[in-house]
Amino acid sequence: MGKAEQQVLFNPRFTFPDPDKISIMKILPLLLLLIFSPCTLGDGLPDLGDVSQAALNPMQEREIGQQSMMQIKASKQFLNDPEINDYLNQLGDRLVQFSNEPSLDFEFFAMNDYSVNAFALPGGFVGVNAGLLLITENESELASVLGHEISHVTQHHLARMVSATKGDTMASMAAIALAILAARSNPDVAQATVAGVQAHAMQKQLDFTREHEQEADRLGLELMQKAGFDTHAMPTFLERLQRSTRLIDGNAPNYMRTHPITSDRIADIENRVNKQPYRLLPDSLDFDLVRTKLIGSQKTASDAISYFTDALTTHRHGNPIAQQYGLVQALLRDKQLDRAKLELAALLKQAKDAQGAQNNAMIETLTGQVKRAANDPDTLSFYRTAVKNFPQHRALIYDYVDLLLNNNQAETAVKLLTDQVTRHPTDTTLYDLQARSYNQLHKPLEQHQAQAYSFAWQGNLPDAIQQLELAKRSGGSFYQLSIIESDLRELRDMQNAQTKK
Ligand SMILES: [Zn+2]
Repeated sequence: MGKAEQQVLFNPRFTFPDPDKISIMKILPLLLLLIFSPCTLGDGLPDLGDVSQAALNPMQEREIGQQSMMQIKASKQFLNDPEINDYLNQLGDRLVQFSNEPSLDFEFFAMNDYSVNAFALPGGFVGVNAGLLLITENESELASVLGHEISHVTQHHLARMVSATKGDTMASMAAIALAILAARSNPDVAQATVAGVQAHAMQKQLDFTREHEQEADRLGLELMQKAGFDTHAMPTFLERLQRSTRLIDGNAPNYMRTHPITSDRIADIENRVNKQPYRLLPDSLDFDLVRTKLIGSQKTASDAISYFTDALTTHRHGNPIAQQYGLVQALLRDKQLDRAKLELAALLKQAKDAQGAQNNAMIETLTGQVKRAANDPDTLSFYRTAVKNFPQHRALIYDYVDLLLNNNQAETAVKLLTDQVTRHPTDTTLYDLQARSYNQLHKPLEQHQAQAYSFAWQGNLPDAIQQLELAKRSGGSFYQLSIIESDLRELRDMQNAQTKK
């Protein structure tokens, strides 16, 4: 395997963290503790007595963010839906381009959590809970949350707080960054930490200050305005959150804990937007489809069928194309293929008649899924065209590659995957598909190598190392083997750093 291909497999933007400096595995037990066992939260926390003012450089911030991401992916909290994540990235990038760091490589992702929250990690990672996606009433409201989080990142708020605490190693900084998130994402954790005085003190110390919030609001509004969203959506959304705390019991928006909303704060925003005109913007079809997908995924297939049928027949408020999409998806899940095909035909006609709804990647993906389930004879040729039209839509590519492999066309699959892995070097599904393809091509070295990267990006070092060992034993060119040796060294160093602790 050539040098170029090595670059493809390991994200050029992310080499595994230098173990001497960082050693993610050293902090893994602590992180898991923080995330999963609230009662003992106080036990493993760093001492916050000393305050070092050392600022973090952008690369350190990025490394902290990446380490936290690996943990989030390992925790299963990550919502592994490429369509939802692709959508969030498109929306986020529309705002980022107007920020003071337009070239910063942001990654937006959804969390499988139905409480209302969003958060930013150092280095450009922004998480949005499914619950927040569902509570927003229009795309500008969602943009207002993203704009605010982007501004926390570009103003380095979290990084400043992290570096202001005692954090002599990168590992403890990453631990602190995640501790902040863990403690705040779950109110019970916060309650439990009252026992752990350190944790309590830390949390008080690390809450975003009023100044941080105001700065993030102000800059977030600027991004919204420049990107053409309705800035009035920001105060509207915050007011609704504030009201909802009185209404929703036990599910009070965590967003309000992490980004304290005060009447002062809302008044300040209102003052700013009052000078700006209202913008009546239609939501993108993707916004409606993503939310429909989340609504459907919370219901059983038959409940979802009734829900969307009812929405369509009673002309319930909402986008009928999205409701029809939800119905087809539910019918497919329920294996009612004949009805799914009928309703899909209606969906395609509706989309064709509506302006701006033609050629939608999510509808195209669903069409392919119905065709596959129904064993439609033109399925393969459908995918060939669809992938040409939407070469960036990962959900479509996952499905197409799976179909290719079922049809023993691993060569074509490998070509597609190589391109995708370059774009999304931390996407473990792509590596899994790569491993399947190489298995079919009887290339054990490449197969185990791809499997190793999948495990590594899930934070599973032992299995990643085992796969690289298997790859090594499969034999290969001198060059291939030296790459595997070098990867093995990196992973082993990380693992050793963990056991040393
Ligand atoms: Zn905030």
